[in-house]
Amino acid sequence: MYQAVKGTQDILPADRAYWRYVTEQMHAVSALFGLQQIDTPIFEETSLFVRGVGEGTDIVDKEMYSFQDKGGDDLTLRPEFTAGVMRAFIEHGMHVLPRPVKLYSIGPIFRHEAPQAGRYRQFHQFNVEMLGEMDPAVDLDVMSVAWMLLTRLGYRGLNFQLNSTGCRKCRPGYRAALVDYFKAYEDRLGDVDRRRLAINPLRLLDSKEPAVQPLLDAAPHSADHLCDECATHLAGLRGYLAALGMPYTINFRLVRGLDYYTKTVFEVWAEGIGSQSAVCGGGRYDGLVEELGGPPTPGIGFAMGIERVIASLKQQGITPPALAEPRVQVSPLGEAARLPAIRLVNDLRAAEIGALLAFGGRSLKSQLKSADKAGVAYTVILGDTELANGVAVVRDMASSQQETVAADGIVDWLRARVIRNT
Ligand code: ATP
Ligand code: MG
Repeated sequence: MYQAVKGTQDILPADRAYWRYVTEQMHAVSALFGLQQIDTPIFEETSLFVRGVGEGTDIVDKEMYSFQDKGGDDLTLRPEFTAGVMRAFIEHGMHVLPRPVKLYSIGPIFRHEAPQAGRYRQFHQFNVEMLGEMDPAVDLDVMSVAWMLLTRLGYRGLNFQLNSTGCRKCRPGYRAALVDYFKAYEDRLGDVDRRRLAINPLRLLDSKEPAVQPLLDAAPHSADHLCDECATHLAGLRGYLAALGMPYTINFRLVRGLDYYTKTVFEVWAEGIGSQSAVCGGGRYDGLVEELGGPPTPGIGFAMGIERVIASLKQQGITPPALAEPRVQVSPLGEAARLPAIRLVNDLRAAEIGALLAFGGRSLKSQLKSADKAGVAYTVILGDTELANGVAVVRDMASSQQETVAADGIVDWLRARVIRNT
């Protein structure tokens, strides 16, 4: 028997109400912020991600689904949105648009990770980017998208984890301070962390190795190494966050996995959802567009894991609005009633009333049973007697009351009683 590939999952109809609810809120909140939707292809040239995400990151080193296609091109299933969105921004000359250029995307992401609860190999993200502005008010705008969305979804106990990782000017000094610090303890580091120390020392700050944890407390903080520009930027953002009363914690260990971040980095942690508590993470990437061959363009964005959002909504007992379902079944009894029944179902649907036809010419009893299972509010029964008299019998499924209604008035009769599907 075939099974879904490890780390992937089917999104079954039973979960659809959550997906619809969450993605509809994503579109609605995006519209409030003037974000415009962009869809980029699911695969891109491998080198785009190597360059954009950066060597020495978990994504590039271990997690990419890379392959050569039949034409010999090196391609990769997108392990994140930003690099592809930046590629599209450059390719379509979007830097000439009014700034900031605000873009969002929703779609699948692929990472070869060790599957576990809340961690999959195919998962979905809501991704937001705002390009072309250095103003820390844009950082606030981006963070507010996440804040407003999660709040509207019903989250309580949200907290931003905030840090600044500096810029091209001040990060080298911080990097050197980190290397100095960790060099003294190199013998305590495992292979992975020693490699990080050589290639990407900032990554040591989010090392999960138990041996490294005691070293982290005394490690230098990036905030103490910021240049004036970065310090002013962070102070500006903190002022705005305070003005809006958005709670946050300065977390000096927050560096985020990707190379391209500059200045602001943040995650949103939701209370009480266990170890995979980060539902969203992002930050500023002022050098990325240029790194990918475009004009110098600052930018900031975040990505939110949709599966993780839905899992935590469930854990918090938040239920989405039910999806529209057919409210009427039409049950023909006997051959003569079949065509009128088919026409009636068609008329009901055209009037935006969801309707099911009882198939297969079964007994009335069995048709009513399936109507109950389908959860419809009314069953329209059409038999020979009804046809002869130009009427139909309508059964209220909850009360089992039956009423005779003129056949040509039945759509209006039902329209007055059931919720329309759209
Ligand atoms: P983590 O530290 O959990 O690995 P990350 O820093 O790799 O997260 P990002 O690359 O910032 O995550 O992705 C943004 C969001 O996407 C995360 O906050 C999370 O909600 C979600 N996410 C990341 N990886 C996975 C995954 N393998 N399965 C499901 N959701 C994921
Ligand atoms: Mg990760």
